[in-house]
Amino acid sequence: MSGGRVESRVRNAELPMPRAYRLWFEHTTKCPDCKGKPKAQDGCEAGRELWGAYRLARTGRTS
Ligand SMILES: [Zn+2]
Repeated sequence: MSGGRVESRVRNAELPMPRAYRLWFEHTTKCPDCKGKPKAQDGCEAGRELWGAYRLARTGRTS
């Protein structure tokens, strides 16, 4: 009887972000071009795309 819960909405908003970040992080551990770079923008094209996806997930913007 607690009324509408916002929990599922929060989960939906949070889920893509850590996943996208993990994908980028895993890429940087394997990719010699991205490994050890202080900025994601200094990495290879694939790394920058993964970073861009993470930033999109973080800001909640899809376009
Ligand atoms: Zn890379």
